Amino acid sequence: MPGAGGTVRGSQRGGTVLRDSNRRRLLALLQDHGALTRADLVRRSGISRATVSGVVAALLDEGFIREVTPPSGARDGRVGRPSALLTLDPASGAAVGIDVDHDCLRVVVADLSHTVLAEAERPLDIDHDADTAMALAADLMHLVVAEAELDPSQILGVGMALAGPLDHATGRPNPSSISPSWVGVDAAREMQRHVGHIVHIDNDANLGALAESMWGAGRGASEAAYVKVDTGVGAALILGGQLYRGAVGTAGEIGHSTIAEDGPVCRCGNRGCLERFVGTPALLESLRGSHGDLSVHDLLRLAAAGDSGCRRVIGDAGRLIGVQVANLCNLLNPRRVIIGGSLSAAGDILLDPIRASIERCALPMAAATVEVVAGELGDRATVLGALSLVFRQVDPFELKPRRGPVPVARIQPAVKEAVEARPSSGSSSV
Ligand SMILES: [Zn+2]
Repeated sequence: MPGAGGTVRGSQRGGTVLRDSNRRRLLALLQDHGALTRADLVRRSGISRATVSGVVAALLDEGFIREVTPPSGARDGRVGRPSALLTLDPASGAAVGIDVDHDCLRVVVADLSHTVLAEAERPLDIDHDADTAMALAADLMHLVVAEAELDPSQILGVGMALAGPLDHATGRPNPSSISPSWVGVDAAREMQRHVGHIVHIDNDANLGALAESMWGAGRGASEAAYVKVDTGVGAALILGGQLYRGAVGTAGEIGHSTIAEDGPVCRCGNRGCLERFVGTPALLESLRGSHGDLSVHDLLRLAAAGDSGCRRVIGDAGRLIGVQVANLCNLLNPRRVIIGGSLSAAGDILLDPIRASIERCALPMAAATVEVVAGELGDRATVLGALSLVFRQVDPFELKPRRGPVPVARIQPAVKEAVEARPSSGSSSV
């Protein structure tokens, strides 16, 4: 009977579609989270335990994913054998993250289990030339790839962060971005020419937010703001669990909020921007007369040791930042505000005045529902976020799974750290 045959074929097609959909869902979860247990996959996917078990068995058999047993004892104080962690096959490729900050260059390489294999950092002249910085980044990338004992053919892509706003449509830095030599440069294409791999690009605050959302203080917060306080000041917005960039990519640039119309001229061309008062160069400059030439490290160390001038300067910065964060709370009502960048290492010396300003200036309901926390990834947040740009682009079905033993010696220490560090379950080894 044609109708009956059609139903059976339709049912088979339906089963295949569902199976493929379940495979993609589980692979996407591992892609996003690095290492998860079977129980994590069941909880996060909403797929039944039996189906997850079957799909995982097939993916293991085909070599798309690997299973790693964490060292005994690494289970958040719970008794019994720790659950095995599943990851995409680490041997099937690696991602490179590059962070070109105002005065520092960071490069990191990680495999698809989100295990960092090698990383390096170099100082950068604050008035650096874009081409020089890209050449240095390429050299540093070759260094870390060699240190990780990877063949360049294993690199799946490169994520690059630039400080300051970019035109999201073209990827070109705009005039208020990192330094004059970068303005209008097609940075992704130029960097691709230097490194010979596809380069994805975004700004530093957006990538810091992505990293904190994936691996740090932003986990579980679908409405959040990440505020980077460093040489420059910028924010990134997570709305409905997604990064919000705005029409052309300048959403969240609170560093360029005007706080004094007759204030000093900013690199963006306006006057009296927040960044001119609370960026680390402004803080160090205000201490020059009393403390001499300090580095940010000196400022943080002295503040922690109780130096009243250093604490006052950081506290005043927190108060001013807090007023702008209060405005942001009134506009967007985030549940969590994550403070990152080098100045976040000051902890509550910076965070308490931010909280006080929010309490004073935001709508009471918005102030009552927001928590202000320090980022967990410190100075590495941006470069780790650059990795996530690559992880998000990978199609696990296009990888070439390699059958054979898991490189246990390389994986286990990193996974051990991840398991010990993770507060509940479903963390990564970044
Ligand atoms: Zn400005």
